[in-house]
Amino acid sequence: MKIKKVKKTKATLTNIAPKVISGGFYDLSDEEIEELRDTVGVKYPEKNKYGEKLFDANGNIPLTKEEKDSILPLLEQKFEEVLDILRISRNDPNSTHTPARIARMFVNELFAGRYQKPPITTVFPNRKNIDELIISKGIEVMSVCSHHWQTISGKCAIGYIPGKHILGLSKLSRIVEWFSRRGQIQEELGEQIADYIEDLIHPRALGVVIKAKHYCMISRGVKGSETDSLMITSVMRGLILEDFNLRNEFLKLIEN
Ligand SMILES: [Zn+2]
Repeated sequence: MKIKKVKKTKATLTNIAPKVISGGFYDLSDEEIEELRDTVGVKYPEKNKYGEKLFDANGNIPLTKEEKDSILPLLEQKFEEVLDILRISRNDPNSTHTPARIARMFVNELFAGRYQKPPITTVFPNRKNIDELIISKGIEVMSVCSHHWQTISGKCAIGYIPGKHILGLSKLSRIVEWFSRRGQIQEELGEQIADYIEDLIHPRALGVVIKAKHYCMISRGVKGSETDSLMITSVMRGLILEDFNLRNEFLKLIEN
C-alpha cells in the first residue's frame, strides 16, 4: 500500500494574519502572541513597499540627508493615522504637530544610529606596551527597546587591555551612542559594542558592562520600580574572561 504524502502548507503571513485580526489571540498576553508567532515560523517580507531593503531594528544602513528627509512626510502621515485611530483630536493644540514631531524624533534621534555612518574613531599605536586595564565608565546609554519602543536609560562601562592599538577614550561614548540610538535589546547592545571594539583594535581583554532602566517595565507597571529596577548585562572577552582576578579588578574599578 502506498503511503499518501501529506502536503505541508508553508506558514506565511497571510495564513496566520486573519486569525490574529479576527480576535482569536486577543485573550493572550503580548508575550504569548509573540511566542505563538515564533512557533509558526512566519516569514515576513525582506523589502518594504518602496522596494527598499528592511533590516533589524538594531541594524545599520547609512542614508544620505536627502534619503532621511524623504522618510519624514511618509512617517508623519502614518502617525496622523495613529492619532486618528486613537481618537486624539488635532484641534487639541498640544497634539496638532505631534505626528511631525514624532516622525522627526524617530528618524533624527531615537533611531538615528540605524541611518548614520559609523563614528570616526581614532586609533593610536600602543607605544609603551600598556599591559593594564584602560577603563571608561559612566558612558551614557539612551536607547529604545525593540519590543515596546520605550526608553532604555542607563550607563555603560568599558574596560580593555590593549594589544597593538589603543582607542581615543572619547570615541568610546560615540560608539556606545551609535549602537544605542536604535531599537535595541540590552543583551545585544553589549555584544554589538564589544564586537565593534574587538574588530577595531583587537584588545587582549575586553569587558562591556551595561546597567540600565527599562521603561517598558517601569511605565507599564509589570515588575519594575523606577528607583530599584535595573538590568545588568556584561560581556567579557579574552583575558578578562579567563583570568578571575582581572575580572574582579575590572568589576571593582567600575563600581560606583
Ligand atoms: Zn520593552
